[in-house]
Amino acid sequence: MDPRISALEYVREVGSGSTTAEEFVASTLDRIDRHEGSIHAYLSVDREGSMERARDVDRRIRSGERVGACCGMPVSVKDNICVKGMKATCASRVLEDFAPPYDATVVSRLRAEDAVIIGKTNMDEFAMGLTTEFSAYGPTRNPWNPDFVPGGSSGGSAAAVAAGECVASLGSDTGGSVRNPASFCGVVGFKPTYGLVSRYGLISYANSIEQVGPLARTVEDAAFLLNVIAGQDPNDDTTAAARRGGAGGSGGGGGGKEDYLGGIDAGVEGMTFGVVKEMLGSGADGAVVDSARRAASSLEAAGASCREISLGMVDYSVAAYYTITSTEAGSNLARYDNLRYGFDLPVEGYEFNAYITKARGRFGPEVARRMILGGFVPSAGHAGRYFLKALKVKSRLTRQVDDALKSVDFMLSPTVPVLPFRIGSRIDDPVALLLVDINTVTANLTGKPAVSVPFDAAGGLPVGMQVMGPAMGDGGVLRAAHALQKAARLPGVPM
Ligand code: GLN
Repeated sequence: MDPRISALEYVREVGSGSTTAEEFVASTLDRIDRHEGSIHAYLSVDREGSMERARDVDRRIRSGERVGACCGMPVSVKDNICVKGMKATCASRVLEDFAPPYDATVVSRLRAEDAVIIGKTNMDEFAMGLTTEFSAYGPTRNPWNPDFVPGGSSGGSAAAVAAGECVASLGSDTGGSVRNPASFCGVVGFKPTYGLVSRYGLISYANSIEQVGPLARTVEDAAFLLNVIAGQDPNDDTTAAARRGGAGGSGGGGGGKEDYLGGIDAGVEGMTFGVVKEMLGSGADGAVVDSARRAASSLEAAGASCREISLGMVDYSVAAYYTITSTEAGSNLARYDNLRYGFDLPVEGYEFNAYITKARGRFGPEVARRMILGGFVPSAGHAGRYFLKALKVKSRLTRQVDDALKSVDFMLSPTVPVLPFRIGSRIDDPVALLLVDINTVTANLTGKPAVSVPFDAAGGLPVGMQVMGPAMGDGGVLRAAHALQKAARLPGVPM
C-alpha cells in the first residue's frame, strides 16, 4: 500500500480493515529505505519498536480492546523533542549521545492515542536556522527537487511528510520553523497559540515564544493532531486552561477541550482577511506575490472579503526577534558545558576555562553566533540599546496586531517571501538569510496562531500561504486554512 495518504484516510482505512497498522508501518519503513539516501529527513528510525507497536495495535483491534484515535499511525518527531529511549541530539554534536529518560508531553499524548513514533527528524542545530543546512549531520533535501533546501529548522519533519516517510510529524516553531519548511515542502504546518501546547520535553531555544506544532498533508490532519496534543499540562506552567468554545473557534462548547476538527468545514463566508502590506514588500519574489493575489481571490470566491492592511512594526520584527531569541538561547544553552550533558571528553589536563572552551567548540557556527550575540545584547551597558528596545518592538507589534484583528478576522500573507532556493546558495550570508523570516516571526512575537497552507507551485516548487488569527482562535484559523487548501492548485510531489 502507498503510505502517502492523509491521517484521516489512514484512520478510515484501518477502521474498515482495508489495511493493518503493521502493513502500513512496514510500507512506510520501505519508503524510508528507498528515499532516505537522497532526502535525509531522519536522524534516527525506530524500526523494531515501530513494528512491535503496530502489531500491538492490530492485536487490540482484533480482540475489540480500546484503540486510540491514531490507530498505529506512523508519526515522526523533530529531534529536539524528547522521546524516551530514542536519541535527542538537536542535530548537534554537543548532544550526540543524549537519550532522554522521559517522553515530552506531546509525545506521551500521541502515544496515549496509539500513534507510532517512527523516528526523529533532522533540523538546524538547536532549531537555529531556516534551511536545515545547519545540522551537524548533513542537510535534508527538498523532496520536490533534492538540489533545493527543504526550509527549516523543522526541515526533516516537512520533508518526511512530503516524501511519504510518515503520515504526519511534530516540529517546533520559534520564528517560523514549522511553517517555513511546510511552505518549502508543500505540506501544512501549524503554529498554535502560545500556551495551547505543552513545551515540557521540548529542548528550549527561546522558550518565551516557541511552540510545538504539527506538520501534515492536510489542514484537517493538522487539526486532528492538535486535538491530540493541545491542552493544559501541569508540567508546563505556561499552558492555558481549556477554552470553552467561543468566537472564531470551531466550537467546542460548554467546557472540556475544544474540538479543532469539528466545524472545520464551515467555510469563510462573511469573513474578512487583511493582506499584510509589509509581508509583500520589495524583497518578495514576483511568483510569490502572484500566488498571494490568487489566494486572496480564492478566498473572495468562497465568500470572504480581503483588503490590504499595514503593520508598520513588522519592518522591525526580524531585528527584535533575533535580539530576543539570541538572549534566551544564550541562557538556555549555557547548560551545555559538558558537565551535566555531554560527550566523552576527559577533564584531565585541562584548566576549567580551557575545558569549557573545548567542550563548547563542538557547537556549529550558527549556534556559536547566537550564543555570542546572546551574551552581548542583554549585558550591562548594552541592554538598553538592544534587548530592552527589542522588547518594546515586541509589545508595539502585539498592539498593532491586536488592533488590526479588531477590524479583520484573519491576516493573510505568503508564509515565506521567496521560493525555495538551492542548497548552499545563501548559507554564506547568514544575516541576509535571517530576513527570509520576515513573514513568520510576528506570530511568535505576538503569541498568535498561524498556519502555512500549500497553495500553489512556481517553477516546480511549492508556495505556501500563511493565515494568522487571534490568540486562542486556533479553530478559526484552521477553518480558514482548510477553505484555502480546498482552492489550492498544487501538483503532487514528483517522487
Ligand atoms: N529562522 C529562525 C531562527 O533561526 C526560526 C527558527 C525556529 O523557528 N526554530 O531562529
